[in-house]
Amino acid sequence: MSLLVIGSVAFDDIETPFGRAEKIVGGAGTYISWAASYFVNDISIVSIVGEDFPQEELDALENRGVDTSGIKIVEGGKSFFWAGRYHLNLNARDTLVTDLNVLADFNPVLTPAQRNSEYVMLGNLTPAIQMSVIEQMDVHPKVLALDTMNYWMDSAMDELLEVLSQIDLLIINDEEARQLSGQYSLLKASEIILAMGPKYLVIKKGEHGALLFGEDRVFFAPALPLTEVQDPTGAGDSFAGGLMGYLASRDTINFEALKQAIICGSTMASFCVEKFGTEALRNLTIPEVQERLDKFTHLVNFESPVL
Ligand code: AMP
Repeated sequence: MSLLVIGSVAFDDIETPFGRAEKIVGGAGTYISWAASYFVNDISIVSIVGEDFPQEELDALENRGVDTSGIKIVEGGKSFFWAGRYHLNLNARDTLVTDLNVLADFNPVLTPAQRNSEYVMLGNLTPAIQMSVIEQMDVHPKVLALDTMNYWMDSAMDELLEVLSQIDLLIINDEEARQLSGQYSLLKASEIILAMGPKYLVIKKGEHGALLFGEDRVFFAPALPLTEVQDPTGAGDSFAGGLMGYLASRDTINFEALKQAIICGSTMASFCVEKFGTEALRNLTIPEVQERLDKFTHLVNFESPVL
């Protein structure tokens, strides 16, 4: 099945308690595509970069089967740049720089094939851009999934609500769910957010796992306890990529498939954080991914205690 990814392709400066990296390749679209590529072959990405973006990076994605012809290269332009610093508690970070550069003029135009994509992952972008993609689809995808952030809730809530009314799956973190719903309880928040439109909601809780809501059910997936965490950047996007890649590969959409999909998302996020940038996601083998998926199963598998 085909997966269409819309998201930033960027340069990042990252500082964590364990080191720093300058001008490394990042961006939500990049992480989503790398993570999804271990589950599904037919991926295309629509994004925009400047002339400064290394062709080898696009070639590397192509070599993993990701069609990058939808990444517009702006002559003389500069790629989106983001700089962030993590606190000792890796769940908190400060954004130091956001230079939109060519992303400021991003106006995604889908090809006829992309307009018929069965699975669509809209990475964190302005709700207006996300809506323009939705409007270009010839038919409603089997799953239209979306990521967003607090910034758009503060600055473009009406447009965001319009987008939320159109989607099937919302993937956000706990802080964003609380802001969007005005509720502290994530159970109450889920009811309010599902009433906004999405059929399913995933709330990520960083190293504390993720919750899935929908069909009047709740499921919890833990994050894998890791000995080595270097850089959480892109964990959320890798999660979304693994989740959507798995759904597209299975081509089944129900609560049970989504439960497995969030384990796939958690697995890709666990790889992502072990090294800086996209490094850990680039050289995995299918047996390595499978081994880690199995670890999740063993981590949570238990027989119900009987009194
Ligand atoms: P995450 O850690 O999953 O939130 O994603 C981090 C990635 O998102 C980084 O590689 C950044 O380049 C990218 N990013 C940060 N801010 C934005 C933004 N405002 N729009 C699009 N992408 C962004």
